[in-house]
Amino acid sequence: MAELRLLTLYPEQMNIYADRGNVIFLERRCRWRGIGFSSAAAGIGEGFDPDEHDLIYIGGGQDRDQRMVAADLVATKRVAFAAALAGGAAALAVCGGYQLLGTSYELGGERIEGLGIAPLHTVREPGPRLTGNVSIEVDLGSGPRILAGFENHGGRTYIDAGGVPLGRVLHGHGNNGRDGREGIVLGNLLGTYLHGPLLPKNAWLADELIARAIARREGRRPELRPLDDRIEDAAHAGAIRAAERTRA
Ligand code: GLN
Repeated sequence: MAELRLLTLYPEQMNIYADRGNVIFLERRCRWRGIGFSSAAAGIGEGFDPDEHDLIYIGGGQDRDQRMVAADLVATKRVAFAAALAGGAAALAVCGGYQLLGTSYELGGERIEGLGIAPLHTVREPGPRLTGNVSIEVDLGSGPRILAGFENHGGRTYIDAGGVPLGRVLHGHGNNGRDGREGIVLGNLLGTYLHGPLLPKNAWLADELIARAIARREGRRPELRPLDDRIEDAAHAGAIRAAERTRA
């Protein structure tokens, strides 16, 4: 039986805005299809075996939480994270977790070192937090789709040379409120500011991650059985409508 092996990084610190809902959603969509699901966590001081997890997830966190985990992330998980990605694992990083994929998060005179595995950096500039409903257009290889959610970040993220944004902002702020870019995509690694939580509002992305993770384990991309997504489709449409009412 196919199995999704999920690893959540810092579930105690990096979980604001109901990011845990993303994990529950992945589990349900696997179980409803008869796909096995196992879930592990790695917290402060804990390393992990890159071969034992096919999908790595890190959620959002406040500056305080990010400070608490950043050095640990680099010291105890960076090598394994990079090895898992090099071996084909998928990963989703949301908001505070997304910022930590980059080289640094600078706020005031302080510089928090990130993982440096994605070409981006984040700066807390003067100005208001970038909050509100947001929608972006994304193409992960099967044509344009919409991701819709909610953003709330003080940091402005800039993609460095060679980096590719996850999507184009339709409504809302995105990475920095200026360049129309949102998130990052680097092979099977996706980073985004969208939460809310993200996956229940965008079931198609949950399935994309499940397919990529299982493909890594089994060597070929599975055909995922369609589910009755009436509630999920309504949530998706509602999130898109909410973003359309956003002015920026
Ligand atoms: N602390 C970060 C910021 O404000 C990320 C916030 C979050 O994860 N919601 O930019």
